[in-house]
Parts: sequence; structure tokens; C-alpha cells
Amino acid sequence: MRESLRRAAAEQSRHLGSNIYMMASDQEKNRQRLKQLLGKPGNGNCADCGAPDPEWASYTLGVFVCLSCSGLHRNIAQISKVKSILLDPWSSAEVEFMDSVGNNAAKAKYEKIVPAFFYCPTHKDCMLLREQWIRAKYERKEFQCVERQEPYSAGYREGFLWKRGRDNGQYLSRKFILSEREGVLKYFNKHDAREPKAIMKINTVNATFQPTKIGIAHGLQVTYLKDNSTRNIFVYHEDGKEMVDWFNAIRAARFHYLQVAFPGASNSDLMPKLSRNYIKEGYMEKTGPKHTEGFKKRWFTMDDRRLMYFKDPLDAYARGEVFIGSRENSYTVLPGLPPNIQGYHWQFGITIVTPDRKFLFACETEEDQKDWIAAFQTVINRPMLPQEYAVEAYFKHKP
Ligand SMILES: [Zn+2]
Repeated sequence: MRESLRRAAAEQSRHLGSNIYMMASDQEKNRQRLKQLLGKPGNGNCADCGAPDPEWASYTLGVFVCLSCSGLHRNIAQISKVKSILLDPWSSAEVEFMDSVGNNAAKAKYEKIVPAFFYCPTHKDCMLLREQWIRAKYERKEFQCVERQEPYSAGYREGFLWKRGRDNGQYLSRKFILSEREGVLKYFNKHDAREPKAIMKINTVNATFQPTKIGIAHGLQVTYLKDNSTRNIFVYHEDGKEMVDWFNAIRAARFHYLQVAFPGASNSDLMPKLSRNYIKEGYMEKTGPKHTEGFKKRWFTMDDRRLMYFKDPLDAYARGEVFIGSRENSYTVLPGLPPNIQGYHWQFGITIVTPDRKFLFACETEEDQKDWIAAFQTVINRPMLPQEYAVEAYFKHKP
């Protein structure tokens, strides 16, 4: 009796052992197949942000995604379930499904009708843009049905946004209206006000998400030109979809404006003009025109050819702006400062030579200095566009 029990137990353990062995080998086989699938066209980059070499996958949507996007997929768990390609166990059926879909087929389905002006984020963009892109595609299915694009495609949008007060930094709820027909974005101070507090012409408006600088996850910086000077406003909405809808509505308005202003221009020519991220931002020190006033620390923003400086990053107006033209028009950037510069300043100098004068800057670190010089070189190396000569002329004749 005892012997038969021992035998039965031995039999059972052999059985279990072989099952475990089988499972491990199946899993290894499945993992190898998954790795092969990564080599298929489209699967080598994250389906949502384009980052190379995705190591995660949604086995309900059939897409390969990066670690960061897999975290955002977890927020829509009713639609998307994710697993690590390397660390999680996969069944043959799940691998089969990944094989039958993949990033290219998913793109054809979920990005069927993305409007030309719609901002498709990259891995460098803020979390809000990437999360809303994922939700728009898979949760709201905005790009499978044109009616769902109404919030940013109608040419008119109104609603309330929290706007940072110009001088006190306090956020107050303000009514905003975007009207393509009038070619403006405007906001009102009082809820029943008839006259807007500000009218921003859409041809001068730029919108860029700045969560870090503003200190708010949904923080959007809107700039516009008034009398050729740059003005900043800072806004947000608690609802991420609302904020990104505003952003894409502004891009749509810019797109339709530019289509009229530049007839015959291709979509790919117009796309980079819809909204601009800054080439570089950060603190530097600067001197005045005589180079004898000493260096002052300022927040600098390089927006295309405009180098603006502010006392505080969230100031409404730039203290000053420097136009940076092209090499052909006698603009140069040099590392270092001229000899005999007086007073204390940061160690790593930069000199910008324009046709009229020299601008002197000082950076805190050598890395900063390199980055700024590279930013200035980007625009100096690029030939000037006809409309940029008008901007240059304005800066030259500025009192
Ligand atoms: Zn990604």
C-alpha cells in the first residue's frame, strides 16, 4: 500500500515536471515568434509615438508600443491590455492575434482619417499630448468617423479656460472664442462682457504645451503679436481632451488661414507652420547695447528667428527681442566674449554679430553654451524667407 502511494506520487511529479517543461518551451517558442514579429514592417517603432524598438504590446489591440505608451494604455484597460514582450508569459492565441494585426494594420484602422492639421505626437512630446492621442485613436475612435472631429474641425469653438493673470499669476476662468470666419482667437474678462479683453489674430498666434515651465500638466502657452511685439498668455483646462481639442482647433484655424494666404503650397509645406515648439529656452546673462552696464540674468526663448528675453519665464511681454537672420545677411554666432569685458558674469560667453551691433551673452555651463550656439546656428544656416525681411526691417528701425 505504502509502495503504491509512493509510486503514484512519483508518477504525478513526473507528469507535473513534463508539463512544466512543456509550458516553458511553449513560452519560449511564443516569445521567439513575438520577437520575429517585431521585425515586420511597422512593428519596429512604437505604434503611438514612433519611439524605436518597442518592448511592450497591447494584446487586445494588436499593436507594439514603447514602455512609456504602455503605461498610457493601462489608463484605458477596458480597451487595451498590455504585456511585456520579454517578461510576461504569452499564449499561442495571443501571439497569433499579434501576427494577424500589427502596427501597420492598426494604423490603417485607427488612423484612417486623421485631419492634415491634427498634431500627432512623438516620444519627445508631453504626456498630455501622447495620452490624448492614444485615447482619441482607440477609446474615442475619432479617426474612424468624421463626426467625432467636430470639436476641432467646425471652424468655431468657445468655452472657458483658466488663464493666468498678467501681473498676479492667479488663474481665473475666462471665456475664449476661436472664430475662423473672423480669423481670431479672443477672450473676455467678465462673463457678460460685450467687448473682448484681447483679440489675437490667428496669423500671429502660436500655441505650445509647456507643462514644465508653467508647472501645470495641461498648461498651454499661447503667443501672439501685437504691434510686432510678442505677448504670452498661459491657459489650461482640467480636462485633458478639452485642452488638446483647443490646441488642434487653433492648428485647424492656422491651417485654413495659411491655405488661403499661400495658395498652391502643399500640406507638408504648411504643417510645420501650424504651431512651433521653441528651438531652445533657458536662462542666460546679457548686457545692454553699450556692454558697460554689467550682465543681467534673463529667461530666453528662441522662437524661430526671434530670440526673446524675459525677467520671469511666465511674463506677459518680452523685455526685448533680437532678430537673428541668415549668414548671407551678415549674422554670425561666435563662442566667447570680446576682450576687456567688465564685471562679473557666467563663464561661457556667446557673441552674436548682427549687421547693426554685437549681442553678448553668458551661459552658466559649457553644455548650455553649446546648445545655444547650435540653436543660433540652425537659423543662421537657413536662408531668409521673403516675409522674414519685413520682420528684420522692423527690428532694425525699432527705437
Ligand atoms: Zn510610445
